[in-house]
Amino acid sequence: MSSHTRTAGQHAVSLLFSFSLGACASVGTGGSNPATLAGENANGPATTEERVDLTFIREEEKLARDTYVAFGAQWDLQVFASIPQSESSHMTAIGTLLAAYGIPDPITSDVAGHFVDPTLQALANNLGTEGRASIDAALQVGVLIEEYDIVDIEARRVHTTKPDIVATYDRLTLGSRNHLRAFHTQLVARNLIYVPQYLSQAAYEAIVSSAHESGTP
Ligand code: ZN
Ligand code: ZN
Repeated sequence: MSSHTRTAGQHAVSLLFSFSLGACASVGTGGSNPATLAGENANGPATTEERVDLTFIREEEKLARDTYVAFGAQWDLQVFASIPQSESSHMTAIGTLLAAYGIPDPITSDVAGHFVDPTLQALANNLGTEGRASIDAALQVGVLIEEYDIVDIEARRVHTTKPDIVATYDRLTLGSRNHLRAFHTQLVARNLIYVPQYLSQAAYEAIVSSAHESGTP
């Protein structure tokens, strides 16, 4: 069981790394933006880095939502029924920031399982395949998505000092920590040992051993 967990996790990790690199390579493709709209924001226009980050996180949250919705259709587990609503609210929170800063929304047609970024598309396809194999694998994919989101958003958080963006990032990582706890609890109930792929073991343990955090989901 443990070795299966490791194998599945490592497989997904290589995908996530390539997807992360792909995101870096696509910097600037969000190009033709209405600068006039951005200039109207009280916090000033978004920097190129902020624009790239918000554009990326918008689809990153969609990947979480779409993946869990698909798993919920196959596996009868409460976590897959409830967490998509939270991911949907995360998508909306980022969408609100995109609009506030005049950044084009990468989601022009919200089709489940469809992504503008081809690397994200490949990642969603692969994680979806993993999660359809078994309920255990689906839960592992869930934990992996959440720890990746935490690490990714925390890394991007230092790119900005804008209070609305920082507050939204903090809200999303709070939600991810709660989701991580929920998936982890399910894995423990199945006697599965998950090996963190992005968080340190200490950081992972600190999250899963602490209580559910209240706040806007
Ligand atoms: Zn989220
Ligand atoms: Zn989440």
